[in-house]
Amino acid sequence: MANLNSLLRDLDAQMREDGNWGEPANYIPELARVDPAQFGITVVTADGKVFSAGDTDTLFSVQSITKVFTLAIALGRSGDQLWKRVGREPSGRAFNSIVQLEREEGRPRNPFINAGAIVTTDEVLDGRAPRDALAEIIQFIRSAAGSNEIHINEAVAASETEHGHRNFALAHFLASFNNLKSTPEMTLGTYFHHCAVEMTTTQLAHAGRFLMGVPKMSRLVSMARVRRLNALMLTCGHYDGSGDFAYRVGIPGKSGVGGGILAIVPGKASVAVWSPGLNTYGNSNKGTEALALLARKMNWSIF
Ligand code: GLU
Repeated sequence: MANLNSLLRDLDAQMREDGNWGEPANYIPELARVDPAQFGITVVTADGKVFSAGDTDTLFSVQSITKVFTLAIALGRSGDQLWKRVGREPSGRAFNSIVQLEREEGRPRNPFINAGAIVTTDEVLDGRAPRDALAEIIQFIRSAAGSNEIHINEAVAASETEHGHRNFALAHFLASFNNLKSTPEMTLGTYFHHCAVEMTTTQLAHAGRFLMGVPKMSRLVSMARVRRLNALMLTCGHYDGSGDFAYRVGIPGKSGVGGGILAIVPGKASVAVWSPGLNTYGNSNKGTEALALLARKMNWSIF
């Protein structure tokens, strides 16, 4: 795949030439401060080769991408029990919608919208101290990435806690429907901290290897679970932009408001892309653009 290197270099140049970086997330002050004129992409292939271009050594806040890891842990801990508390359908609504949660009586549509991710975090927490749950989450991510140099950015976690009124509203709603086992404060403390994990695109692409479903790459979770995680990423990984992402890119992906996207080409590659400017759905603008171009050039699609 010699041409992958030059392809990524061309993509990087094209993204920078186009300008129009867009705006980073503005509701978390620590994220709003990030310079939007940045772009990085890393591809790890099934045979372990690594290709990259752009700002691949810069740490960024992975935010909702951690929901894939917490979901893998929650399913490992409680199996199908989780689905009594969270659905598996696309939401067609913003990531932090409150109205849907009320209409559906406290059972979030899927584990990737905020309400569903809060329930998933609560399942991982399950009566433990938040620090113990966080230790398990960080350890899972580090094993997946094959790097101990992955940490939580405390300033981002604090910023989100201070400004997290919507998430507090969602958590209290969930509690009012008896769909939280721990207190909203404990569950959200854990949620905000795992969302504040920082990675480079190189680390994130490595952390996604287990989702390729290539046994020799990683045995972190079973093949059956890998398929299910990918199915949820495809149908729900980009909030109400999930259909658009499936149409334009054609592979499973999970975005975060920090501007990162982890995309998986089953059996072939794990791709991490980052650019902080967001589109109207709250997903990375140039990240989506770059993945659409890359998938087309490489003929990567699950369809
Ligand atoms: N921590 C973010 C929030 O709860 C995650 C949202 C995202 O990355 O899409 O608002």
